[in-house]
Amino acid sequence: MQTAEIRRRWLAFFEGTGHTVVPSAPLVYDDPNLLFVNAGMVPFKPYFLGQQTPPWPRATSVQKCVRTLDIEEVGKTTRHGTFFQMNGNFSFGDYFKAGAIEHAWKLVTGSQGEGGLGFDPDKIWVTVLGPGLLPHLPDGDEEAAALWREIAGLPDERIQRRGVEDNYWHMGVPGPAGPCSEIYVDRGPEYGPEGGPLVDEERFLEIWNLVFMQEELSAVRAKADFDVARELPSKNIDTGMGMERVAYLLQGVDNLYEIDEVYPVIERAEELSGRSYGGQSGDDVQFRVVADHVRSGLMLMSDGVTPGNEGRGYVLRRLLRRAVRSMRLLGVQDPSLPELLPVSKDVMKASYPELEADFGRISQIAYAEEEAFRRTLAAGTTILDLAVGRAKEEGQTKLPGDQAFALHDTYGFPIDLTLEMAAEQGLEVDREGFTRLMTEQRERAKADAKAKKSGHVSTEVWRELRDQGSTDFLAYETLTAEASVRGLVVDGQRVQSLSQGQRGQLVLDRTPFYAESGGQIADEGTIETASGAVLRVRDVQRPVKGLIVHTVDVESGEFLEGAEVSAQVDPEWRVQACQAHSGTHVVHAALRQVLGPTALQSGSYNKPGYLRLDFAWNSSLSAETRSEIEEVANLALRQDLPVAAAYMTLPEARAAGALALFGETYDEQVRVVEIGGPWSRELCGGTHVRHSSQIGALTLTGESSVGSGSRRLEALVGLDALHYLGRERALVSELSSLVGARPEHLTDKIGQLLARLKEAEKEIAGMRQAAVMSDAAALVASAKDVNGVTWLGHDAGSGVAGDDLRRLVTDLRGRLGEERPAIVAAASAVNDRPVVVVATNGSARDRGFKAGQLVKVAAQVLGGNGGGKDDLAQGGGKDASQIAEALTRIEQAVGQG
Ligand code: ATP
Ligand code: MG
Repeated sequence: MQTAEIRRRWLAFFEGTGHTVVPSAPLVYDDPNLLFVNAGMVPFKPYFLGQQTPPWPRATSVQKCVRTLDIEEVGKTTRHGTFFQMNGNFSFGDYFKAGAIEHAWKLVTGSQGEGGLGFDPDKIWVTVLGPGLLPHLPDGDEEAAALWREIAGLPDERIQRRGVEDNYWHMGVPGPAGPCSEIYVDRGPEYGPEGGPLVDEERFLEIWNLVFMQEELSAVRAKADFDVARELPSKNIDTGMGMERVAYLLQGVDNLYEIDEVYPVIERAEELSGRSYGGQSGDDVQFRVVADHVRSGLMLMSDGVTPGNEGRGYVLRRLLRRAVRSMRLLGVQDPSLPELLPVSKDVMKASYPELEADFGRISQIAYAEEEAFRRTLAAGTTILDLAVGRAKEEGQTKLPGDQAFALHDTYGFPIDLTLEMAAEQGLEVDREGFTRLMTEQRERAKADAKAKKSGHVSTEVWRELRDQGSTDFLAYETLTAEASVRGLVVDGQRVQSLSQGQRGQLVLDRTPFYAESGGQIADEGTIETASGAVLRVRDVQRPVKGLIVHTVDVESGEFLEGAEVSAQVDPEWRVQACQAHSGTHVVHAALRQVLGPTALQSGSYNKPGYLRLDFAWNSSLSAETRSEIEEVANLALRQDLPVAAAYMTLPEARAAGALALFGETYDEQVRVVEIGGPWSRELCGGTHVRHSSQIGALTLTGESSVGSGSRRLEALVGLDALHYLGRERALVSELSSLVGARPEHLTDKIGQLLARLKEAEKEIAGMRQAAVMSDAAALVASAKDVNGVTWLGHDAGSGVAGDDLRRLVTDLRGRLGEERPAIVAAASAVNDRPVVVVATNGSARDRGFKAGQLVKVAAQVLGGNGGGKDDLAQGGGKDASQIAEALTRIEQAVGQG
């Protein structure tokens, strides 16, 4: 049975039993505690936590999940993927244990002809929480065991009692919790010993976990150490079935990596490598890593993750690089992702059609990442070889931890790669040192990020304030509002008042101030009381959902909690902020019109007068392309396109072709900002002008690279654009009067000047050389005999470059002829740094003189070094005052033979 068919049956079964089908949330979800969605219940958390009222009593979903904990395990067990799909059914105070067990049993053992999955009931085992483990459940979950006997007719020997680790669920924090019951399928004696899941978890494969949320915890100290506050008045069900696991059982294959949605990538990798999967060679793990990671990478990029050095981006980078590296271990040196990613896309698109539409963008990111990794490998390998060489020279057996760390930190060299490559050269790596440095760095980064985000205030304070009510956000409608002070915070502590000279945070019940988000920075302005106290708003953030916090400096008077105030956004600031944000959308649309739809924005920043936009693109933009983008953008301003915001659901927005940011939830209304109808449609929470002409003017000021596969455009808008153009005009007119040419002739004129300059430099060089050479005849006369050698040492004074010195000594050597041994040395100070050149003739070399050795003697005195061939060598140093001494030393060396 194909995976897509299992999905279809699942949804049909639960829809048929009154569950509302809810689409998968994106992998990147609005939850600060989660890197990625890792279970089907994540999008439903607010309902289970009682923060929101569930819109339906029952729901079902097939949720995309990524679990990063086990990256290293992939390919080694048969049942863990980094990406997988969790099928869930959920009850919010509706049915409970009996209902959950009944549904699961029907679907798992129902015949395939009637829409079930058709597992043999005799092969099913289940686990329930055992007795004597938790004080509040002394008998364990015998209730569930009884239901399994009644509903499914399971004999007691196939109902096993298990520990808290597997069969009690909570979120690690106060909140709902309860026992769970797992469903296992016996794959048969060829996969392991008898005895059920208690004995062997590879033979008895867990496919489904039913969580019975029946109590609320008030404190959680560890997995098995917590306080139960009360029984939940309305009990919930949360279940998760691993779709890939069911697929591999129903497709008669041995593991997760051989199912229809994964295996084709392995086949392609076999073709590319010429090696075969399933052989004895131990290559299988690499094949599986490739197939698993390519798929996970694909799905993450599809949900808006781009490779980076921290957080989610780092996970993606790691997955892609591990895939590429595994291909190299399989002997494939050429770029692999262009071969593998399309295969994964083709098998996944049946369930995720958006993959096809978005593949241009996704593949560009992936291929650029592989290219970057290839460059890293090339650069890092050289550095690693040097480090290994040095360590060996110093007689060490381990590569120092700081070297491994530097390789990782500067060249993005993964530690496993360093380990392996060092091992190939017979060295271990000081892992402890490496790990220590990594931990230190991670802690620094964490502390930085924390300090930046919250100004050291823990989110507890903000949650407490938010729970008194969300802030009314008025920024779209007005610039001024009467409001009351909900709370004041200084250094993370609630305070009753803020007075003159103090900086703190202030929360209002309603605010016209725009809080920084979506790339747009916060509004500035003032907040005043009727009695004349004034404060200036420095920053506005949304530290937790629903709460807007102003960072303020009190300019005069005193602000008390509960006071009535009037808030006023600086109108000039806001006009310019709107110009910049609308300008960002215009540039994005123009960019895509000129470059095509793959030039998709990956990040943006805008503040009054200025905007920048990062987008997926591999090469720099030519001057013509830049002007074309600017032209299209300004045309859109001149056309005076209307700007409008509309609210709709995410699927509606997608259908309207809105460019989606990521992290929105399916049940929320999203805001779509349009400029000129379909010309520009983006999900956006920012403030905008009402007509494109209000942007005024737009001028691109820069284009640059920001990491692999990503470029950045910068632009100015409104008055700032005009001022920028004004400054350019002033510059042109200055240049014009400086070189005495009209602006339209400037390029020609400066070109001519540069050409003349070049010619003059050439002439000067010729003259200098002639001057040096003209001394040659006189110099030859000053040669003397030293130890049977004609010796000529010459201090050429300052400013004679190495080239000229070499020409001089070879000329002098020629003049001295070959009858007698002759050695010539000349030196000069160029920019205060001494240069010395030594030449020997054939007879001198026959006597054993080597220019390279002689120049070293001089360089030593000059505080530097030198070298070269036996006939001609050059050296230098730092101390020009020693030139005479240096020549003397050479002469002495000649004297000594
Ligand atoms: P296991 O003990 O096998 O790792 P788990 O206890 O972590 O599983 P749950 O957190 O209960 O699993 O998730 C519910 C279901 O999701 C499991 O029954 C299993 O079928 C599936 N599942 C969990 N992790 C993975 C994974 N890494 N790859 C594929 N399926 C998974
Ligand atoms: Mg697990």
